[in-house]
Amino acid sequence: MAYEKITLPDTGEKITFANGNMQVPDNPILLFIEGDGIGYDIMTASKRIWDAAVDKAYGGRRRVSWMEVYAGEKAAGIYDGNYMPDETFAAFREYKVGIKGPLTTPVGGGFRSLNVTLRQVLDLYSCVRPVRWYNGVPSPLKRPQDVDVVIFRENTEDTYAGIEYESGTAENKKLAEFLKSELGATNFFPDAGLGIKPISPFGSKRLIRAAIKYAIERGRSIVTLVHKGNIQKFTEGAFQKWGYELAREEFPERTISWDDVAANHGGDVPNGKILIQDTIADIMFQKMLLRPREHDVIATTNLNGDYLSDALAAEVGGVGIAPGANIGDEIALFEATHGTAPKYTNKDMVNPGSLLFSGVMMLEHLDWFEAADLISKAYELTIDQRCVTYDFARQMENATKVATSEFATRIIENMDAV
Ligand code: NAP
Repeated sequence: MAYEKITLPDTGEKITFANGNMQVPDNPILLFIEGDGIGYDIMTASKRIWDAAVDKAYGGRRRVSWMEVYAGEKAAGIYDGNYMPDETFAAFREYKVGIKGPLTTPVGGGFRSLNVTLRQVLDLYSCVRPVRWYNGVPSPLKRPQDVDVVIFRENTEDTYAGIEYESGTAENKKLAEFLKSELGATNFFPDAGLGIKPISPFGSKRLIRAAIKYAIERGRSIVTLVHKGNIQKFTEGAFQKWGYELAREEFPERTISWDDVAANHGGDVPNGKILIQDTIADIMFQKMLLRPREHDVIATTNLNGDYLSDALAAEVGGVGIAPGANIGDEIALFEATHGTAPKYTNKDMVNPGSLLFSGVMMLEHLDWFEAADLISKAYELTIDQRCVTYDFARQMENATKVATSEFATRIIENMDAV
């Protein structure tokens, strides 16, 4: 289709789908949204690294054609104040895969989060966040190497659906009256702000299905359903119930529930089966600090997943390095998980790790594992050489603090040594 402000690259082909399977050409067009604040610095550095890795891994046989699409402040400058132009959504529908830097969201008013809008409009229902430690990265844990989980966070429902009624408004009063008179719900103070938490079988099951499929494809052995079902029985509790139901109905040959293991297999998971277990959300934080090896793939609701992903990221180096992706049935949008860190804008000093590793996930999504591995190894070597950005430098002894751009150059140079 023709775009108003988006410029198509001179070369490159579209990623397509046939019978639900993604077809990736050797020269795919991939989209990028630069992002606000530190977005320019980390996107510029990361694109150099991704391109160098693809070039070195495939000797020129494969190449990415980048196409810039717009959201956030850069979009507002180009599209007369429109922070989220329609043609950005259209480009994702047409080209399927892309990556974005962080976008500004005002707190307590103004426009709705652009990140949430992108996820909802494009129906990117799985937020996927791998959390693993890279050798040398500063961590508060004694054994950070034990942390190796992939979080699947439901991305479209829960309190993030935005069904909220502000205290004192006519809508709020109407809903409060309905709850009291029609449903007998009296257990809240007058004028309480009210929010609705929708959790559906459809939304829960497609997320849990994606988590189980991932575990099968990537040889993972456990899927843990994380929920607060002891308190919120018909939302969080239902999520857990639907998870076990789905595993039983759709993956009977590949999965086994903990109850089945305990009752029929003496507590040992049979070979070749993926264990489906569940845990209450609050205790999950303790488990991931004390016994992280007992978890592998995690499937959870939107708000739990939000808290859990940042907390677990802190165990292996913090949000400056944690990657993420938002994935739907066809469209995948990879993203830095931290914000725009506005005080560091254009200072060429922040850690590009989160965006960089989101790009590594993107390469893996395309099945370009060789390029992805090359980046991970060159990154580890760079950290081993104690060549780091300011955030790691302040946590490491004898580290050399370098700019974002120099850090990228060192990683690219180190690709020849791994
Ligand atoms: P933030 O931008 O993530 O920054 C908080 C702190 O985290 C920074 O001051 C910095 O800590 C550290 N940090 C973040 N990115 C880093 C990096 N690449 N390298 C090293 N350190 C990094 O969070 P915020 O200040 O709460 O949010 C700012 C804006 O970003 C808000 O408008 C918010 O809505 C938005 N936001 C967007 C996204 C997204 O686009 N996905 C996510 C979260 C927030 P030190 O100062 O201690 O070094």
